[in-house]
Amino acid sequence: MSDLNSTTSPPSVPVELPQPIKKKIVLRRSAAKEVFPPTPKYKVEQQQQQEQSILSSESLKPSCRHGSITRFRYLTEKNENESSSSSSSSLLDIKRIIEIEFQFDKEDENTFKPGDYLSIFAPNPFNVVESIANRLNLNLNDRLDIEMIVVQEGKVVNLPDNLKRANARTIGYLLSHELDICGIPSKRLLRLLGENASDQEEKKKLVHLSSIEGKEDYNQMIGNRITLLDLLISYPSISNIPLHYLVDFISPLVPRDYSISSSPLSSQPRHATVVFSVVDMNINQKEIKGLCTSWLEDKCNESILNNIQQLNIDNNNNNNNNNNTTTTIINNIPYEIKPTNHFTLPKDTLKTPMIMIGPGTGVAPFIGFLSHLEKTKQPDLKLAETWLFFGCRSESYDFIYRDEIESFVKNGTLSHLVTAFSRESKDQSSQPLGYVQSKLLNHSSQLFNLITNNNATIYICGDAKGMAVGVKSAFIEIVKKELKMMMTNKQMKLFLNGLQIKDIY
Ligand SMILES: Cc1cc2nc3c(=O)[nH]c(=O)nc-3n(C[C@H](O)[C@H](O)[C@H](O)COP(=O)(O)OP(=O)(O)OC[C@H]3O[C@@H](n4cnc5c(N)ncnc54)[C@H](O)[C@@H]3O)c2cc1C
Repeated sequence: MSDLNSTTSPPSVPVELPQPIKKKIVLRRSAAKEVFPPTPKYKVEQQQQQEQSILSSESLKPSCRHGSITRFRYLTEKNENESSSSSSSSLLDIKRIIEIEFQFDKEDENTFKPGDYLSIFAPNPFNVVESIANRLNLNLNDRLDIEMIVVQEGKVVNLPDNLKRANARTIGYLLSHELDICGIPSKRLLRLLGENASDQEEKKKLVHLSSIEGKEDYNQMIGNRITLLDLLISYPSISNIPLHYLVDFISPLVPRDYSISSSPLSSQPRHATVVFSVVDMNINQKEIKGLCTSWLEDKCNESILNNIQQLNIDNNNNNNNNNNTTTTIINNIPYEIKPTNHFTLPKDTLKTPMIMIGPGTGVAPFIGFLSHLEKTKQPDLKLAETWLFFGCRSESYDFIYRDEIESFVKNGTLSHLVTAFSRESKDQSSQPLGYVQSKLLNHSSQLFNLITNNNATIYICGDAKGMAVGVKSAFIEIVKKELKMMMTNKQMKLFLNGLQIKDIY
C-alpha cells in the first residue's frame, strides 16, 4: 500500500534523453556452498506427554487476542468453475471476494482509525501438520524445551519470538502455529532434506535444487507450489531430520494483513469489517489454496453447515452482487490491530484533495476512508475533491461495494468516481475495457492540477508488482504530458521519490 504525498514541485525541463536504468547485480551464496551441517543454533528436547488432549488446549495462540466473525457475505458471485479455468480472457476465473465483520476481544482496549489493518494469524491445516509429523516420526503431543545455544560477541542471543512461544508447548502447536510449513521451501531447507536422504539419487536432486546451478529448477519448483510435505512424499528416503535444524530452516509463520474497510464510527463498537479475495487456483491439476483466505472461507462455510448460532440470513440481491449476508458467531480468530502512521486521512480534508487508486480488494481502505468522511463531514462545509479510481475484471461480477460507492457519490462524500473494467462492462461503447492506470491518463490535466496546485495526497492500494508500478508510470506520463517535456531517468526517480512512496502490498 502506498501513500504518495505529492509535495514535489515539477522537475525542470531536461536536456538529456532517458537512459536505461542500470541494474544492481547481487550475488547470493547458494545453500549448496554453505558448510553443512552448520553449527546448530538451538538445542531442542522433546518430552513425551501422557495426556492425549493437549492439542485442543493449544488451539489458541498465546500473546495474541482472539476475536469473532459476526457476519459475512460474498461480494462476488460464487463460481464453482473458477479455479479450474485456464482461459485468461474468461470471466469464469473471477475470484471469490468475501467481506467479514469482525468483533474484537472484549478485553481489547485498542481501537482503530481509518487506514489501519487487521492482522489475522491463520494456523496451518491440521491434515498437513499431522502428515508432516507422521512422516518425520514426530509425536504431536510431545512437549518442547527449546534453548538458544548461539553466542554472539560473548552474549547469548534470545530465541526468536516464534520459538519463544513454542517453548514449553507441544510439537503440534509448533507445527500448527509457528512454522510456515506450507510456504515456499527455502534452499537451506532443501539442502537439509538432501543431506538427510539416504538414497543417493534423491540426495543429488535435492542438493541440486539448493544450488546456484539448480536455480531454474528451483524456480520451476516454486512455480508449481511444491511444499515441504510434497517433498517428503516425493523423496521417501528423507529421514531423521534433527528438530533443531527444522525450527531453524523453516521460516516463522506470519499473520496476513487486511485493510479495515469500515469507519470506527460506522460499525458497532469494537467491530470492523475487512474484505479479502480467496486465493484458490489450480496448478498442474493440484488445487492451491491460500492459507489464511481459505481458512477464513472454510470457517464461514462451516458455520453455515453447522448452523452455529446462526441468527439471520438476509437475502438481499442487488446489482448482480450476491449480497447474502450471514449473521453468525465464529470464535477464536487470532488477530492484532495494526495501526498505520502513513496511510491515514489528510489532516485537513477540507483543503487537501485525495486521489485514491484501489482496484479489487485494494478499494477496502478507501471504503473505510469514505465511510469516515461521510460520518464526520459538516453539512455546511465542502470537502476538498475526493477521487476514487476503482478497477476490476467485470462490471457485472466483481464490482465490489458498488452500492456503497454510488451512495458516497450521491451524498457528496466522493466527488469523482472513475471505473475501469478489464474484461466486461455493460456498455463498452461508452466505457472501453481497460485498467485504472489508463484511466488516470484520461484525467491528466485535472490530476496534474490537484497534485501541483492543491497538494493532493495520492493513495495507492493493491497489487504492488503490476498495478502500483503502472500507476507510478502513469503519474510520470501525466507530468510529461502536462509540462510537454521529456524526463530523464534521474528526474523520474526524483519525481517518484518526491511522491513519498511509503508502503505497498
Ligand atoms: C498491508 C497489507 C494489506 C492487505 N490488505 C488486503 C486486503 O484488504 N484484502 C486482501 O484480499 N488482501 C490483502 N492483503 C494481502 C493479504 O495479506 C494476503 O497476502 C492474501 O490474502 C493471501 O493470503 P493467503 O494466506 O490466503 O495466501 P498465501 O498462502 O499467503 O499465498 C499467497 C501467495 O503465495 C504463494 N505461495 C504460497 N505458498 C507457496 C509455495 N509453497 N510455493 C510457491 N508459492 C507459494 C501462493 O501462490 C499465493 O499466490 C494485504 C497485504 C498487506 C501487506
